[in-house]
Amino acid sequence: MVVVGAGPVGLTLAVALVGRGRRVLVLERRAAPYCAPRAVHLDGEAARILQSCGIGAGLEQVLEPAPIYEWRNAGGDAILRLGRPLDGPSGWPASSMFHQPDLEALLVARLARLGGELRRGVEVTGVDQDPSGATVRTTDGPVRAAYAVGCDGAGSSVASGLGLPVHDLGFDHEWLVLDVVPDDPWRQEPINLQICDPARPTTAVSGGPGRRRFELMRLPGEDAGELSTPRRAWELLAPWGLHPANATLERSVLYRFAARWVERWRAGRVLVAGDAAHQMPPFAGEGLCTGLRDAANLAWKLDLVLAGIAGDAILDTYETERLPAVVGATELSVELGRVVCVVDPVAAAGRDAAMAPGVGPEPIAAPSLPPIDEGVVAVGTPGAGETWVQGRSGGQRSDDLHGSGWRLWSIEAGVPAEAGRRLELLDGKVITLPSDRGPGADDLERAWMAERGVVAALVRPDFCVFGTAGDRAGAIELVELLRARITLGTG
Ligand SMILES: Cc1cc2nc3c(=O)[nH]c(=O)nc-3n(C[C@H](O)[C@H](O)[C@H](O)COP(=O)(O)OP(=O)(O)OC[C@H]3O[C@@H](n4cnc5c(N)ncnc54)[C@H](O)[C@@H]3O)c2cc1C
Repeated sequence: MVVVGAGPVGLTLAVALVGRGRRVLVLERRAAPYCAPRAVHLDGEAARILQSCGIGAGLEQVLEPAPIYEWRNAGGDAILRLGRPLDGPSGWPASSMFHQPDLEALLVARLARLGGELRRGVEVTGVDQDPSGATVRTTDGPVRAAYAVGCDGAGSSVASGLGLPVHDLGFDHEWLVLDVVPDDPWRQEPINLQICDPARPTTAVSGGPGRRRFELMRLPGEDAGELSTPRRAWELLAPWGLHPANATLERSVLYRFAARWVERWRAGRVLVAGDAAHQMPPFAGEGLCTGLRDAANLAWKLDLVLAGIAGDAILDTYETERLPAVVGATELSVELGRVVCVVDPVAAAGRDAAMAPGVGPEPIAAPSLPPIDEGVVAVGTPGAGETWVQGRSGGQRSDDLHGSGWRLWSIEAGVPAEAGRRLELLDGKVITLPSDRGPGADDLERAWMAERGVVAALVRPDFCVFGTAGDRAGAIELVELLRARITLGTG
């Protein structure tokens, strides 16, 4: 397997595959790690994916949870307050802030520990393919692989080389991104703010522990060169009490966000993931998280194909499952962006008047993403396609206790051993929840099943619920259905 690009998505995919025993070569054109901040937001599900890669303990150290995301008008009044629980359903804070190079360092170290190969300073110039494999052309000569995945970011040469059609929503704006390290700890409640001031729409959020991220919309007619100077950066930071004597400016750059995706994610033995497949405005904080979900979805499918357990048609379900989710996240980000990027004071006053009455003493829940409704899921069983929850017992997260992979969770003792035996093909196992998990247990999994009136839930390695069953016989049928789906086309 070749992965093109050692960004967070390529590294996550590589770690997930090497962790399953696959040989993976990551090719990265940069000779050294890129140390500038970039994405800053991680949702709970993305954190759980990284936990499953074996970097959970390190991740805890580099995240700053962000339970409230408040939007204010020019006068400082709240017009929207989104709440994101610290104990989110994926077992992590539903929203956390981080410094991208910290995350990449954790992944690089993990890949090395697992024995994966990362070759830096090698640029991929094209990918050819034939029925038996892909030939990745590089500045170091050709590399042969069973499959190649382009995780080469926005402007992906792998995607353009394949001629993948692009769908562009045409919503793009240039924002000045300022990354600052204040000398003293930052005191602002809540830590994440969106300032919907038509005079200068501004995002003021954490950039991970000890860091602040400011994003300021470039106004119509504003000179780009002048705006990106350090002098102008400090002028814009002054109202926040930041100046060269009490803070370091790490990055000042104009960044144009976009809202687009490729309409095909696979061409034979070549696939794309992460920013190579989609880019979205930053307002929902989903750009990188979406890419990590791509990696989690693709990793187990490629693993089963490489193991000869699944036919390669399963790789088509990668696009079927991920594209609607990406379209949904991108449309949500655009919708939020249209609320934020208002520079007409009259329109802004109308927006504020419409939104402010919706703000109550309690924050409202941030919108959640829809379940997978087509692909490797037992459509029609309650909760199929939803994201499986992660509880705790004895102070430990469930995935750390039971491992991740194919898991048949049951609240009924005696889901037959037969179901467990049939899962062995997929290296899966049955987890029977005792009615009392002891002190420190939150019983999230049991509550999830009780709410849907089921006694068993079959969960995929990417934490998507394959399907559920209302009784023991149904649990065996579910495992059989899964096996039939997976082995389809393997003869
Ligand atoms: C300069 C920059 C600034 C950004 N700023 C922000 C921001 O302010 N806020 C935000 O939310 N997001 C930002 N992003 C986007 C965010 O970093 C991405 O969403 C996230 O990194 C997605 O990860 P990825 O692995 O898909 O792609 P990337 O992180 O872009 O990784 C792609 C990797 O592929 C490598 N590569 C590319 N082409 C080749 C090739 N031909 N051969 C070999 N290697 C190749 C690149 O060097 C890179 O390491 C920024 C991205 C960049 C590049």
